[in-house]
Amino acid sequence: MIRLGLIGFPLSHSLSPRLHTAAFKALGLDGEYKLYPVPPDDRDSLVGLSRRVRSGELLGLNITIPHKQTIIPMMDELTPTAQAIGAVNTIYAKDGKLIGHNTDAPGFLSDLYRSYPQTFVEKNALVMGAGGAARAVVYALLADGWKVTLAVRRTDVEQAGALIESMCPVAGDESLRSVLMEADTLSPLVAGIRLIVNATPLGMSPKVDDCPWPEDLSFPRVATIYDLVYNPRETLLLRRARAAGLCAASGIGMLVEQAALSFACWTEREAPREVMFGAVEA
Ligand code: NAP
Repeated sequence: MIRLGLIGFPLSHSLSPRLHTAAFKALGLDGEYKLYPVPPDDRDSLVGLSRRVRSGELLGLNITIPHKQTIIPMMDELTPTAQAIGAVNTIYAKDGKLIGHNTDAPGFLSDLYRSYPQTFVEKNALVMGAGGAARAVVYALLADGWKVTLAVRRTDVEQAGALIESMCPVAGDESLRSVLMEADTLSPLVAGIRLIVNATPLGMSPKVDDCPWPEDLSFPRVATIYDLVYNPRETLLLRRARAAGLCAASGIGMLVEQAALSFACWTEREAPREVMFGAVEA
């Protein structure tokens, strides 16, 4: 039997078991995907679960908040993507070594181009937030040739600085900078922005009336909005963007895509994406 799972905390709303169970069923595989709720300070459980992957008892694990960075010292090796992002969301064993990988970055980029197959001619993006998900999004965009501006709240300026510094090898000198997430600061930049990504939890259930885009600021005339939040499927940000005539996508596609990439990495089988989409839409 294939044994997989997800470490995080809390995990009460996780859609991951549904996604992977649907994939097992579609491919006729005997598998299970369990949730392992591990509180932030429970290092022993992280070590114990990592050992179970190394021994082969578990084929692999996904990692989510708050362990994407704390799990890193328990890995023998990181893939170049996980190394560059500084976060791990997928672990597996290879030749007796525990490998940490990150499928959020390729999952985001792949869903962005699946949702908007037209080529983005001017690759100027604004990414709101500077946490774990923002790191993956920024890495993916820089590697794809985008110029990225981070928009962060005042308390996040230091974290944004650290993100920029750590991405230097991918970004070079000119491709990444940060500004405050305020109408006055964003206003002069708006006209040139072609992609806005919300990588903050603003708008996520139960606080569905929150929105990262300032109320008194117009959207760019031509831009695509991508909200990493997928619960609810249509956030206030997406509603406002669509009302302004813009293309807008929720993070559900990224959720499925990063899961599909993890699944393929563990099972060496192509994941049944359509079935997985169906499972989360049900
Ligand atoms: P995180 O590491 O906690 O980072 C959240 C970021 O948002 C931080 O920079 C934080 O700033 C900022 N932020 C929080 N509240 C804010 C506010 N009121 N105003 C302005 N900025 C605020 O979380 P994460 O892992 O990056 O996740 C962010 C969101 O992405 C979550 O909703 C998560 O569910 C979603 N996500 C979706 C996918 C997907 O597959 N679709 C994958 C990963 C994450 P501070 O540092 O100042 O708190």
